[in-house]
Amino acid sequence: VSSADGPRAAVLVTGDEILAGRIRDRNSATLAASLASRGVGVQRVLAVGDDLEAIVDGLSDLLATRPDLIVTSGGLGPTHDDRTMQAVAEVTGRPLEVDPAALLMVRRARATLRGIEQVPQEVRRRVEEKQAALPRGAQTLEPAGTAPGCVVVHDGVPIVVLPGPPWELAVMWEAALSGSAAVGEVLDRAVVDEEARLLRLYGVVESEVVEALDRSGSDGLRIGVCARAGETEVSVRGPASAVAGLEAAFEDRFGARLYSRNGESALEVVARRLAARGETLAVAESCTGGLLGGLLTSLPGSSVWFVGGVVAYANELKQALLGVAPETLAGHGAVSAECAREMALGARAATGASWAVSVTGVAGPAGGTPEKPVGLVYLGVAAPDGRAWSEERRWPRGDRERIRERAAAVAVHLVREALG
Ligand code: ATP
Ligand code: MG
Repeated sequence: VSSADGPRAAVLVTGDEILAGRIRDRNSATLAASLASRGVGVQRVLAVGDDLEAIVDGLSDLLATRPDLIVTSGGLGPTHDDRTMQAVAEVTGRPLEVDPAALLMVRRARATLRGIEQVPQEVRRRVEEKQAALPRGAQTLEPAGTAPGCVVVHDGVPIVVLPGPPWELAVMWEAALSGSAAVGEVLDRAVVDEEARLLRLYGVVESEVVEALDRSGSDGLRIGVCARAGETEVSVRGPASAVAGLEAAFEDRFGARLYSRNGESALEVVARRLAARGETLAVAESCTGGLLGGLLTSLPGSSVWFVGGVVAYANELKQALLGVAPETLAGHGAVSAECAREMALGARAATGASWAVSVTGVAGPAGGTPEKPVGLVYLGVAAPDGRAWSEERRWPRGDRERIRERAAAVAVHLVREALG
């Protein structure tokens, strides 16, 4: 947790595809979270295109803000638009040279590429040498994919150069943290003298949080409020006693709606509680089409408590696989509290799981009616004791993606609440 006068980092993200909105930058978040946990604040994230000039300018701009550390992402591939090493060499006034150790690493990594034997020898060599060319004096970082990264120290500022693919970046960043003395020195300067909490609230509107903050007083605390998917996240940093005071005030004000105080997500709470009770969960999904199952299985170890379920988009499948009564579908429709309840019961019966949760709704953009508008969603829960219930949600301003994501997130919360 960084104190205000600790070391500061800057991140340079490269890629035309990010500026064009074709992909979303995830790497700066990975780096910022990792640095924050080590007491180093990221002061600037700059995104630039793939051209040499843009990267050179970006690096120069960041250096001019006098950070203690710079990390770059992307542009280490073998193609003509991968120019980050060249830019770093230029800005730091070093020649770009093929590093023999890096060349061996590149050869070893590229040898296993599928179809590599079809590429002419001469092209292969050129590509290898391009990827192994590093600024003189740089410390090589072993490739996680095929491209080595490096650490160059310029005017006392380590510049860590990492590839763009997120998992490669993550692996090589860890290597830089543990393997680079220059990066280690920056981290050693971080003063860890503050407490931090990530408070998660469910079923609370932001203005209630504002009111609670007004009342509890937040002197000396740095507080960030972030609302998403029906939740509100409040990050608090500062002296231990003040943080504890705020936490206690939130506890008083919100009770069980304050469901996590250490950043644990609703999904993690569900996983932990199910595992502790030796119970299992199944799903019955209509409008989320598997998104909920995807969400549940995104957590490592989910096989301990998640058994699977039924994606029943068509009414016929709701009947045949989940046992929803024809009268329910005819009388109430597929998007109804009754159908959601029966879907949950059906999933529980079909899978033998302890619990089941169901989703059925109108995700739009078409298919809405005055009685069943786009954004109307019913969620059902079936419990180990045989009881089942359902809840209604309305997101009239949501688009398809948002409605589906919300529905999956709320399903997790309903299970969390049911687990007490
Ligand atoms: P490659 O050898 O794959 O070309 P690279 O180091 O040159 O790697 P880029 O060309 O910039 O990196 O990006 C490769 C791919 O990695 C991109 O197409 C994109 O899918 C992903 N990627 C790059 N930067 C980011 C980022 N900031 N956030 C998320 N994904 C990214
Ligand atoms: Mg590339």
